[in-house]
Amino acid sequence: MTGKSVCVRCGTFKKRVTATCAACHYTPESEYEIARSLILSENCTLGETVIGRDIDELKAIAKDIVGGRPYYFDAEEQQQVAEAYRTHLATNSNQRSFAFLKWLVPLLLMLGLVAALLWPA
Ligand SMILES: [Zn+2]
Repeated sequence: MTGKSVCVRCGTFKKRVTATCAACHYTPESEYEIARSLILSENCTLGETVIGRDIDELKAIAKDIVGGRPYYFDAEEQQQVAEAYRTHLATNSNQRSFAFLKWLVPLLLMLGLVAALLWPA
């Protein structure tokens, strides 16, 4: 999710999908708004789903939006991307809690050891 992204409202290119547009200050916030922004982004994979457009297509779409012709989103694709995005978020937070456990378990063992040493039965 690091490729270039086109603002769905005004067609200006921005660095990140979830970034606020410098030109019109639009920020995609809801799942569907983010899904639409992901669709108008440089090709990338989200989990196992390939999303986005290649850069030439993206430039053409951006030109259309700037010229006052909004992009027509495919409802099915939007649904698909929203689901991939949701899965992506869930996967990421799972990894975070595993990292936390890896750090917590040795700490608890150490505390147990210290307690055993300080208060022998
Ligand atoms: Zn914009």
